[in-house]
Amino acid sequence: MKGTFPVGKLTSAKTPLYYYDTQLLRNTLSEINREAGKYGYQVHYAVKANANGRLLSIIREHGLGADCVSGGEIPASLKAGFPAEKIVFAGVGKADWEMDLGLDADIFCFNVESVPELEVLNERAAAKGKVARVALRINPNVDAHTHHYITTGLNENKFGISLAHLDAVLDRFASLKNVRLVGLHFHIGSQITDMDAFKSLCIRINEIQEQMYQRMLIVDVINVGGGLGVDYENPDRNAIPDFRHYFETFHKHLKLRPKQELHFELGRAVVCQCGSLLTKVLYVKEGVNKKFVIVDAGMTDLIRPALYQAYHKIENITSDEPVQEYDVVGPICESSDCFGKMVALNGTRRGDWIALRSAGAYGEIMASQYNCRNLPGCCFSDELV
Ligand SMILES: *Cc1c(COP(=O)(O)O)cnc(C)c1O
Repeated sequence: MKGTFPVGKLTSAKTPLYYYDTQLLRNTLSEINREAGKYGYQVHYAVKANANGRLLSIIREHGLGADCVSGGEIPASLKAGFPAEKIVFAGVGKADWEMDLGLDADIFCFNVESVPELEVLNERAAAKGKVARVALRINPNVDAHTHHYITTGLNENKFGISLAHLDAVLDRFASLKNVRLVGLHFHIGSQITDMDAFKSLCIRINEIQEQMYQRMLIVDVINVGGGLGVDYENPDRNAIPDFRHYFETFHKHLKLRPKQELHFELGRAVVCQCGSLLTKVLYVKEGVNKKFVIVDAGMTDLIRPALYQAYHKIENITSDEPVQEYDVVGPICESSDCFGKMVALNGTRRGDWIALRSAGAYGEIMASQYNCRNLPGCCFSDELV
């Protein structure tokens, strides 16, 4: 099965180009709200997956909060209309100016990852006569069974406070006047499709809550991060991730205390399937025992294949000719600038349009100008006439 794209309406558009199906995004958000709403869970959108202003506005219209990881994402979220009280700020290395920005905007919460960071935040807040709300990011040492580049919840990863240090951190916390503990934060990795990983996280959180309770501590918020994966192989069959099963897993296995809120920070699962990178074929070149399709998009437009050996489904959306095998490559002067090897495509010629599917997350936002290239453009299904 091949996706359908309004190529007729795009013929004058410049490629490479990110095409966003805004109706699919809206349907995905409605499904999130329906499934999370069953249990009263709150969902934040992880802005780092895609900070396109139009997409941010649609996500905000559906009532999600924003999870930011830099001092650039906070103003981007505010500009898109996310209320400050629904913004959280995570990241292992927050600079002083970034903390100040969050404090000045009065964001809901800082997800803090170390004692030195906690001490600096306490100082910055004191200088402003404020008390910063803090969730401690705990490294739960849970294996997400995902690609090692995108696993974050193991002791060997740089993220979070290790369980062995939790007691000492809580001791230090008690002596700081300008930070207040409101939550515990976790995020074990990305592109996780095995619900057992989330179940393991729940079990670990239950243990940590017990440990906290020994100290008479109950936090207001448990934040389990994001990480729900999508089906890159079948973007049409599984256009919307299985949110029912996902939220149900937490409902079944996580023991919340009375009045405790459960927060999520989903990135990829929200925006991935609504985006495709559209690119035109420049040349079809005969290699030794293979054919290359050279397209006008490169790793500067979509770096995931080069960076993580990630798979994107590739389709020739303007040809119905018999299928042949090609290596699909970009024009950048790097051998890693390859989108796929031995890809089955309908017979391909110069000028055909190629779609790289499931490119809505960690696509446009990771684009660079390497080789002095232009950044890719974008268009939205509901704005084409
Ligand atoms: C990247 C990230 C997310 C979102 O991850 P996805 O896999 O895109 O859902 C959520 N929380 C934190 C802290 C992150 O770093």
